Amino acid sequence: MIALNDFKAEPAALRDAELQAVERVLRSGWYVLGPEVAAFEAGWAAACGTAHAVGVANGMDAIEIGLRALGIGAGDEVITTGMTAVATVLAIRRAGATPVLADIDPATALLDRASVQRCLGPRTKALLLVHLYGQVRDLDGWDAWARDAGVLLLEDCAQAHLAAWNGRPAGSVGRFGACSFYPTKNLGAIGDAGAIVTGDADLAERARVLRNYGQSTRYVHTVEGLNSRLDEIQAALLQVRQRWLAEFTLRRQAIAARYRAGIRNPRVGLLAAPAQPGSHVHHLFVVTTPGREALMAHLQAHGVQSLIHYPVPVHQQVPYASLARDPQGLSATERHAATCLSIPCHPQMADADADRVIDALNRYGEH
Ligand SMILES: *Cc1c(COP(=O)(O)O)cnc(C)c1O
Repeated sequence: MIALNDFKAEPAALRDAELQAVERVLRSGWYVLGPEVAAFEAGWAAACGTAHAVGVANGMDAIEIGLRALGIGAGDEVITTGMTAVATVLAIRRAGATPVLADIDPATALLDRASVQRCLGPRTKALLLVHLYGQVRDLDGWDAWARDAGVLLLEDCAQAHLAAWNGRPAGSVGRFGACSFYPTKNLGAIGDAGAIVTGDADLAERARVLRNYGQSTRYVHTVEGLNSRLDEIQAALLQVRQRWLAEFTLRRQAIAARYRAGIRNPRVGLLAAPAQPGSHVHHLFVVTTPGREALMAHLQAHGVQSLIHYPVPVHQQVPYASLARDPQGLSATERHAATCLSIPCHPQMADADADRVIDALNRYGEH
């Protein structure tokens, strides 16, 4: 079976380095917010082209803490997409702010400018872009739009590690970028982890206070924070795994290019090609098809796993059914959710694996 992810197939050299990193932390006797976290933060900020990175417990907390550090909360609206992990919207709610959902461009499944414009109102404080599937697109255009609109541009970078637009990495264009290192992300921990990246020193400092009970100096609590600390073992593992990230990203991009060249079936649609080299890091490779259940079963029969990201958009989930949204509706989001399918695109796949996936897709619907 060709799976969506195959961690057990990772290089032995990576595994050995991970074991050494864990041992180093165990023997150090310091387990939370210590030198490993500081070293990872410095390395990750450098990779993202930002002056600061603040390690936190997960990607959802990174969004919540970033919003709270900016003072965005009750009475403030944040425009984002419903074609995302629920965490994006839940984090806005946890910060006390009001999510407003705009529709997507069906060619990319990224936010649609005209729909975002329709969601803009007097209470809008920020636009939270989600770099879905690993794509960044028109970041300078969004930056200009946000300036014109008088709102802050924010980036959910959970799926877009190292993606860049005009040489600017994901997370470095908005006021902050929120990163998740959930194991399946392009840079994944061996558990939960996240980070806020930003060029804004004050925001970074407020995030550091918020992640640790609102503690500014020992036993002095200046604001009500949360417990969202990053631990030393995850930070040590992330430093090791970051050393493989560029190579793993190239591998994802090579598999995606092979798919784009090889998939030839009118029943299987592709999203738009990356607009620039390096602007798509292929966290997921997503096709669209009207008969999704049939295609999933066909792939399964040919030894290919597939999953759906995401079958139910956020506004159709029970707690979010009455969320504010584009007055013209979210029909492109709903159509995409009904037709999208993620096929394997991970760094441990061989070309022969990709060719098996292509062959299975091209045979779909044959008599
Ligand atoms: C994974 C993900 C998150 C949440 O990250 P966690 O680390 O799971 O909290 C947020 N947004 C997007 C787009 C994601 O893919």
